[in-house]
Amino acid sequence: MEYDAILIRYGELALKGRNREVFEETLLRSVKSVLKEFRRCRVWRNYGRMYVELNGESAGEISERLQRIFGITSLSPTIKVEANEEAIKQGAEKLITSMSPPPATFRVETRRADKRFPLQSMEVSRLVGGHILKNVPGIKVDLHQPQATISIEIRTEGTFLSTETLPGAGGLPVGTAGKVLLLLSGGIDSPVAGWSMMKRGVTLEAVHFYSYPFTSERSLEKVRDLAHKLTKWGGSINLHVVPFTEIQTSIREHCPEDYTITIMRRFMMRIAERIAAKTGALALATGESLGQVASQTLESMNTINSVVNIPILRPLVASDKTEITEIAKRIDTFELSILPYEDCCTIFTPKNPVTRPRPEMAGRYEEKLDIENLVSRAVEQTAVEVITTQPRGAVADLF
Ligand code: ATP
Ligand code: MG
Repeated sequence: MEYDAILIRYGELALKGRNREVFEETLLRSVKSVLKEFRRCRVWRNYGRMYVELNGESAGEISERLQRIFGITSLSPTIKVEANEEAIKQGAEKLITSMSPPPATFRVETRRADKRFPLQSMEVSRLVGGHILKNVPGIKVDLHQPQATISIEIRTEGTFLSTETLPGAGGLPVGTAGKVLLLLSGGIDSPVAGWSMMKRGVTLEAVHFYSYPFTSERSLEKVRDLAHKLTKWGGSINLHVVPFTEIQTSIREHCPEDYTITIMRRFMMRIAERIAAKTGALALATGESLGQVASQTLESMNTINSVVNIPILRPLVASDKTEITEIAKRIDTFELSILPYEDCCTIFTPKNPVTRPRPEMAGRYEEKLDIENLVSRAVEQTAVEVITTQPRGAVADLF
């Protein structure tokens, strides 16, 4: 089927009153940037709908890209016809006869936003339905569970027909909710946490702590690949890569084994807070989930939070591992996350990590460390990389 345009619907935005204009503009920018390489496409919006005019570009490929843009609730590949009864009938017939497998039942839905059109919605549906019954052999009407629904939208900007409504990613357009700094490890959870924040309109920056030579270049490459997966949902991401070896070595040398993980996390937060201040991020985000591992208890979260003032968002705090894994598969980060490269935490494998750490105890153990110097050195040595939407060589191919 040769489609003319993709019709984009965005539900939640319509509710937002004064902010609506900003939201629509942000969404329009996202759509344009995601479709930049499809040079023949033209994107425009009008009264709560957005359109991608295809001008010969592939509807399938473009729909797939659009389904990853937050803020879009659904989309339909459409054909555009003249605003008259005969053209609508012919278009509807063409659409339904191109479906495979051919549907045994159908119904017609009409929305007439352009009141200049002389027939009422119900009347259009009835006439088009009659035309299909007469011209498509064997097909029947089923108003409740039809195999095909022909949607007709009669609007001032054109009359659009479709038989398919594809789900969008929902959420809010990236760029409408400010910036968050994601603590991105190589695991399953933190990429999903980042995706969840983007879904609510957040622009992401990411920070990764690595401990060369305890962790390899490969594990860093994997994190870049994970960040790259996330760019598909919201554009380029600045990845801040923090050298963490000196801090981890000092912790191991000077602090009791059961507190090493807790103290390490406190250092991560202190450093992340400074990077957030530099970049204008108003919160940090992690992939922690309550009770998932010994270090993810409420006591632990309190002990970690107490060294910074910036809010730490934990979008997965109440999700089960199976729910998180499901999302990871859906957003295509899972396969990367389970590659077995070492993480910076693997330096510390305390036999009995403390499950109820106390801030006073952690503070006391940290007195042996030169916190300010360690933190500011790590921040100074942080390298920023821009991860773009451009394809990258697969991590497995590099080694
Ligand atoms: P993940 O799958 O995200 O690694 P996890 O279940 O392995 O999570 P932990 O290793 O306990 O959990 O880490 C908890 C959170 O701390 C992670 O979700 C991530 O946000 C952050 N984190 C852990 N290690 C790093 C790292 N090397 N760099 C940046 N952030 C990290
Ligand atoms: Mg981890």
